[in-house]
Order: sequence, then structure tokens, then C-alpha cells
Amino acid sequence: MASRPIKILYIEDDASSRMLIKKILSRFPITFLEAETGLAGLQKAQQEHPDLILMDINLPDISGTELATKIKSTPELQDIIVVALTAINEPDAREITLIAGCDGFLTKPIDLEKFPDQVFAFLKGKREILEGEKQDFYRRKYEKSLVDRLTAKILELEESNRKLAQTSQKLQLYSENLEKILEISSRLQLCSNPNQLKKQLVDEICDNFQFDRCIFIDVDAEKMKLVVNYARGFPSDIRKKLNIPFDNQYLQNLFKEKQIIHVVEPEKIQEPHLRDILKKSRVREFLFAYLGTPMSPLKPSDLRERIKPLLETTTPTLYNQDEADAELIIEHLQEYMSSESFYRGGFVFMDNLRSEKKIFPEQIRLLETFFRTTGYIYQNLLLMEELRYLFIRAEKEAITDHLTNLFNYRYFIQQLNREISRARRHHTKFSLIMIDIDFFKQYNDTFGHQAGDLVLQRIARLMMENTRSSDIVSRYGGEEFVIICPELNKTEAIKMAEKLRAIIETTPFPNVNKLPSGKLSISLGVATFPDDAKEAAALIKKADEALYLAKSSGRNCVRTLSA
Ligand code: GH3
Ligand code: MG
Ligand code: MG
Repeated sequence: MASRPIKILYIEDDASSRMLIKKILSRFPITFLEAETGLAGLQKAQQEHPDLILMDINLPDISGTELATKIKSTPELQDIIVVALTAINEPDAREITLIAGCDGFLTKPIDLEKFPDQVFAFLKGKREILEGEKQDFYRRKYEKSLVDRLTAKILELEESNRKLAQTSQKLQLYSENLEKILEISSRLQLCSNPNQLKKQLVDEICDNFQFDRCIFIDVDAEKMKLVVNYARGFPSDIRKKLNIPFDNQYLQNLFKEKQIIHVVEPEKIQEPHLRDILKKSRVREFLFAYLGTPMSPLKPSDLRERIKPLLETTTPTLYNQDEADAELIIEHLQEYMSSESFYRGGFVFMDNLRSEKKIFPEQIRLLETFFRTTGYIYQNLLLMEELRYLFIRAEKEAITDHLTNLFNYRYFIQQLNREISRARRHHTKFSLIMIDIDFFKQYNDTFGHQAGDLVLQRIARLMMENTRSSDIVSRYGGEEFVIICPELNKTEAIKMAEKLRAIIETTPFPNVNKLPSGKLSISLGVATFPDDAKEAAALIKKADEALYLAKSSGRNCVRTLSA
């Protein structure tokens, strides 16, 4: 509207006047229209809708005043500025034209210089009206767009509110579910060993996560097979069925990024054994979870940090007493933990075969969290079990003689002191039998050290087999042994020593017939608490002296110091 050039229609029957005005106004960027008669002018006004009409009052058909009235009473034309050109000498021209509806008049003859300004002065008013209209239009347009925008905004807000409500509902549900996970996890944390956890995990998954079936699958690291440990919802022969090779690389790839695999089309599984067993069991949609620590190997320093507190809480005595043993255990555990975590990890299979319930992404997300937590609990239990095993082994090793499997000197001393305190407390007796193999150097020199070792082992076994379980048989050193016989007085101890002596003498050890005496024998010295001595060191000394006495009395006999 703004860019449209100003249109001026000049209605005048006199051609020379029309030419003159046209010439004056054509210097300006306007569209100049002309009409010869009043009716032609009206028609043109209707067609062209000019901004301004200049008209002569005296027209051949209708008068200018009539034309002005007509224009101003026609709604679609009334905004056109109508200016009458009247002769200066016409009486009451001004009043007549204004009453007729003209917006103004100019007098003839026109002033050539001023005329354009006079015309444009009328148009200025029109322009303002036009501007006003324009603004009005834009305002209306703007208001409409504002309303549209606001409406859209409100809709958008409503939508986001709805989404927010949904999200908060979801969050609420998620937090409730997390609480449930926490509850289950804390129950699992009460398990004291890995097997208990496996069984309870299977139960919790069926009861609380509403799965029809669940199996805990272990790795038999020796046979490199996957084995069923606990199963619910499966026929009992599932244990035999799942005895399939353990493909470490395949499983490792499966669980590289996720803790849970959601399988919808089991027939697409690459691993042939798994695919085969799934097909045979008519498995459809299922979840397969890895119950272990993350795949990335732990740094040795991290391992140490993880082991130490465990070690301190589980085996305080060992850790405090013997640093060297503790170091050995830490080393072993480090090795154990840095080896393939998959061999230690468990796998859990879950599905809904009977109910055919679908598995939802939220459910998987939740289980993902659950398995991560449980994985740590499980791995810690495994570690604790390994630690317990190592502890027992270390303790056993610390008190065992490796060649003969009898107790060692360290344990003998420990037990001797305990036995003395016990006997003192209960006012009871006990005896010590010190044993030394006769001419053993000769046997060694003749048949070799290895043959000698076998003899030591055989004698150790014989002594174990022929003493009571309460007797403590130890290797005292080299080819010397010592037996603590609780509750035995001197006479009983001598009897028992005699029995052992006779057994050794009659045992056909290898090569004995080649010996000068044709047999192997032992000498034994007996000392009794409190008869011979009341302290450990003194009692040992007495038994040793008795043994020396046996040696000097010709060997292969039992001696004691007092009668
Ligand atoms: P006796 O006690 O009757 O006086 O004579 P012996 O020859 O046994 O005396 P001695 O104590 O001097 O020698 C002990 C020998 O036992 C020395 C060594 O050859 C042997 N011996 C000690 N410890 C071991 C061991 O662990 N293995 C073997 N094969 N022989 C051992
Ligand atoms: Mg000796
Ligand atoms: Mg000897």
C-alpha cells in the first residue's frame, strides 16, 4: 500500500487545461489519470480508486458539485480527496464546493509555481490517513500474530507440563523401583558366601522382578564349560543340558558395553552351542546378564587397595602377626583378581516363557543398575571366599612340615606350651616322646637322599596311623620326631613308645635287607610332665637326654630318665 504511487484523477472537459495540469504534475512520481466528463470521471474513480480527484465544477454532463456528492456518498469512494478547481470570480464557490462534499478547492487560473505544493498539501493529509491505515493494518496483523503466538505458547506450555507430569510420575516410579533394588541388594549383602548369593539372587529375580524363569550360570574354569548352578522354573535336567563350552571371547564381546543383553530373536545368536540350546528349549525373548566387575582390568595398585581392608577385617590375627604371610596372600589375590574376571563372573538368564510378558526398556535399565550393584557384592563374596581359603592354607602351611606333612617345630613348641598350661590348670599329666632314626646317615649314604626322604615320609605316616587323634606328632628336625601325648603318664607313654618302636623295626622299608642289621629302627626317649620337668624347655631337654640314653644303650629301644 505504501509503495503504490499516488494516483491523481483530473476531470476536465477543456483539453488544454488537462494538458497544462498534466505537464505540471508529471514532473512528480505520480500516476496522472484524466477524464473529459463527470460520468467518465466517476467511472474511472471506481476503476482506479485515485488518491485525489481534481475536478472542474463546470462539466458538460454533471456538475462538479453533484459529482463530489456522489463520490462522498459512495462508501468505497468516500476516502478519495476531492478538490474542486473553481474560477476565482465565481460567487460562493468555496461554500458551494464544501457543502457538496469537496475536501477543498483551488482557484483558477492556477499559480504555476505553487500549484503542485497546493495539490500535495491535500495529499499530505491523505498520506497521514494512509499511514494511519497502514499502521492500523499492521497493528491488527501484529495483534493477531501475538494472539496466535500466545496461543501456541500456551499449548506448548501445556504440553511441556503434561510431559513434566509424566516425567515426574516416571521418576517417582523409578525412585520406588530403586528403593526396591536397594532393599533386595541389602538382603543379598547378608549372604555369607557366593553359593548362598546365587540361590537367593535367582529367587529374588523370580519373586521381585517377576520373571517366570531364572538360572544362575557359572564357569567351570577347569573344564572351560558353562554350568548351571541354581535354576527356577526349569526342568531338573537343565543342569546336564547347559554343560556347554565356555567361549570367553564371545561372552566378553557380548558384555563389552552392557551388563545386560536383551535378546528378542534367539535364532540370530552367533554362538552355535548357545543358539542350539536356546532353540531346543524353545526360548524366545530373554535377558542375559553378567554378574561381575567391569571388564577393564584393574591396576595392581588398585587391587592392593581393595585387598588390604578385606584382609584386615577377615584375618586380623594373621595380618597383624605375620607380615610375610599377609604379603604372600596379597600377592596371590592380586594374581587372582587380575586374571580373567569372566572365569569368576556369573551369568544370569531370565525370561517369561509361560506368561509371555514383554520385557520393557525401563525394566532393563533397572536391572542394569541392580546387576551392577549385585555384581560387586558377588565379586566381593568370591574374593572373601578366596581369602578365607588362602588364609586357611597359609595357616596350615605355617604349621606343616612339607616333607612329612606332620606338624612342624613351630607348631610343636606352640602346642607344648598350651599343653603345659592345660595340664597345670587341670592338674593332669602328659608325656613327650622324642624319636630319632638309628644310623640314618648310613641309609642316606647308601641309598641316596631321595630314598631317605621316602623313609622319613613312611615313618611319619606310620606314626600318624598308630597314635591317637589327640596326640600331636611333629617333625622336630632332620630325622627326629616328637610326639605330645596328652593325658599319658610315664608308664602309658613308654608303652606307646614301645609299640612304635616295634612297628618300625618290623616294617619292611625298601632295601633294609641290604643294611648290616637287616632292618631300620628308631630310638625313643620319654619325659613326663610334671614328673620330669615343669617347663617346656626343660621337658624337651629331659626327653632328649632319655633319647641319648637309648642311643647309648644300643639303639632300637625306649628310655626314660627316672624309673
Ligand atoms: P644315630 O642317630 O643312630 O646316632 O645315627 P645317625 O646316622 O642317624 O646320626 P646323625 O644324627 O649324625 O645323622 C642324621 C642323618 O639324617 C644325617 C642326614 O643324612 C639324615 N637326614 C637328616 N635330615 C634328613 C632329611 O630331611 N632327608 C634325608 N634323606 N636325610 C636326612
Ligand atoms: Mg639325629
Ligand atoms: Mg639318627
